[in-house]
Amino acid sequence: MPKVTDGVYFIPGQDEFIPDSHAYVIGDLSSRDLTLIDPGLMGKGDYKIDAIQEMGIEPEAIKRVIMTHTHLDHIGCLPEFLQRLSWAEIWMHRLEAEPLQKGDEKTVYGMEMFREMCNTQYALKPGAFTFRVNRKLEDGERLDIGGMVWEVLHIPGHSMGSIGLYYDPEGILIPGDVIYADYAIGRFDLHGARASDLMKSLIRLGELEVHMLLPGHNRIVENLPPGYVQETARQWEPYLV
Ligand SMILES: [Zn+2]
Ligand SMILES: [Zn+2]
Repeated sequence: MPKVTDGVYFIPGQDEFIPDSHAYVIGDLSSRDLTLIDPGLMGKGDYKIDAIQEMGIEPEAIKRVIMTHTHLDHIGCLPEFLQRLSWAEIWMHRLEAEPLQKGDEKTVYGMEMFREMCNTQYALKPGAFTFRVNRKLEDGERLDIGGMVWEVLHIPGHSMGSIGLYYDPEGILIPGDVIYADYAIGRFDLHGARASDLMKSLIRLGELEVHMLLPGHNRIVENLPPGYVQETARQWEPYLV
């Protein structure tokens, strides 16, 4: 079920012993100005690009990659994408762009133990995720891309520069790892995370009219019950102080 709705396409993550994030392609196909959200884990570039082509989307039409945040399971195969889509720009929130440009990969790995584990498993070298970020996003920006206008919401807590992308006309929310289906939320114990920020972010998302939830992992929800986000925030409030 790759096409979620007009202008929104879903490529499910292929989890291994580390999760692989879902990827999304947004934009009206005829615009040829498409955006890839969150490439995914290392080694998943070919799978994701093949899946994109199988949907009838030309990789050449993908003009940029927007990161909801820069954890390894979302950014791991960005280098693989850039090998194939060398023209693609990289956009992300300023708070994760600035450290990444300087080679500070603390957010990518989240914790030192995980860095060591991944370096052994994947033979990653320091600086493997140092990129030139073409556009540093800020809260409240409205991105007029691919014939659609998506709003940037800075929703820290899971990581310091987590963003959500919101498409108001249809109530579509791409929240990265901030909130998932089934009243789950992202972890808040990694580098740059903060429980109280996550609570504020959930409250803020609860003010939006969300009909479709397209998170970074687990199932997507196409008909979200009214009040779902507020109810999630309410259930988690005791743990997010
Ligand atoms: Zn993730
Ligand atoms: Zn994450």
